[in-house]
Amino acid sequence: MEETTAVDRLVAQAEYYAAAFYHGHLPGPPALRTTVVTCMDARINPYGLLGLTEGDAHVLRNAGGSATDDVLRSLAVSQRELGTREVVVIQHTGCGMATFDGEEFRARVLRETGVEPPWSSTGTFGDVEQNVRDSVARIQGDPALPHRDRVRGFVYDVLSGTLAEVRPVTRRRLVPGPLAPQHG
Ligand SMILES: [Zn+2]
Repeated sequence: MEETTAVDRLVAQAEYYAAAFYHGHLPGPPALRTTVVTCMDARINPYGLLGLTEGDAHVLRNAGGSATDDVLRSLAVSQRELGTREVVVIQHTGCGMATFDGEEFRARVLRETGVEPPWSSTGTFGDVEQNVRDSVARIQGDPALPHRDRVRGFVYDVLSGTLAEVRPVTRRRLVPGPLAPQHG
């Protein structure tokens, strides 16, 4: 007898899901008009965390939860074809994408396979809060997206299960304020 794989288990579970299914009436456009961009990390359950259920939101996941070209493509479809208006970016503590060198990783794949990987950037990062800011800024800066005024970024703490908003960094004033030291 063949070994039962993980996917066999998942497919068996899907039969229970179908037996109790009652969502067949749902329209395609998400009820909350919102798209969630988050990491593929197995510890993140965006449905449980945000109280989402079938029909509520688009959820885009990749390694890191960054605003990659493909996330921007999906956001354009989400907003232009399916009516979403808000975006929430959720990255997290302990992300694997902050634990290795992306350039080295790409070079290693090339070396081991002899084939150029289809991705140009691996998308690794150093500071998660900065990566959230960069992702939010990239979404806000994409003219292909008609709705860019409600884009918010968060870091999810995988140890405590809490979500913390990442505020944009306020730019330092270039002109010295009244209390700034004066140079002669
Ligand atoms: Zn991650």
